[in-house]
Amino acid sequence: MTIPSSNPLTPAPPLPSHQLSVLIGEEELKRRIEELAQEISADLREKDPVIVCVLKGAFVFVADLIRKLDLPVTTEFIRVSSYGNNVVTSGEVKLELDLANSVAGRHLVLVEDIVDTGLTLQYLRANLQARGPASIRVCALLHKPDNNVKLSTIDYVGFNIPSKFVVGYGLDYQGYYRNLPYIAQIQDLQ
Ligand code: 5GP
Repeated sequence: MTIPSSNPLTPAPPLPSHQLSVLIGEEELKRRIEELAQEISADLREKDPVIVCVLKGAFVFVADLIRKLDLPVTTEFIRVSSYGNNVVTSGEVKLELDLANSVAGRHLVLVEDIVDTGLTLQYLRANLQARGPASIRVCALLHKPDNNVKLSTIDYVGFNIPSKFVVGYGLDYQGYYRNLPYIAQIQDLQ
């Protein structure tokens, strides 16, 4: 049987080829993540915490962060969407994939890739709070303080960055660039 490689009527979109400029390099990320891991380990010792990874953007950060934690942890995954394929938030947060296990009575560390307006974080915090955890701490690799209209409390912030659209290290533009080992700005989008 021959499997057609693509539908000839819908040509594949061109692969992205933007001009990128590095905002936070690999070494800087590594150093800061070690510091965050030390703080989290000190705060949650003996608490048997659950690391809640917010997909998709935080998966690279969480993978590196948990390997630097000096305490036993379990991990859960939750997926929400607010941006679709756009560079500005749609203003509406949707739960797309739920946690696999109950977190009632547990100490949670909610790990986000980036807090921009704070809308997603506000939604996630309320959603998790309703499940009766013992505590919720928030860790965000990146924070855009200028846009944070929801004034969310973030317990652990990796880097405060300017209000520009960034990609890499888990963050995407239209699904691409998550595999970059650094955080970059897309020149032609700013
Ligand atoms: P917020 O609800 O705080 O406005 O946005 C949070 C979510 O929007 C993040 O988890 C992330 O998925 C997405 N986001 C916000 N700013 C950026 C950005 O600069 N680059 C990328 N790739 N995603 C972003």
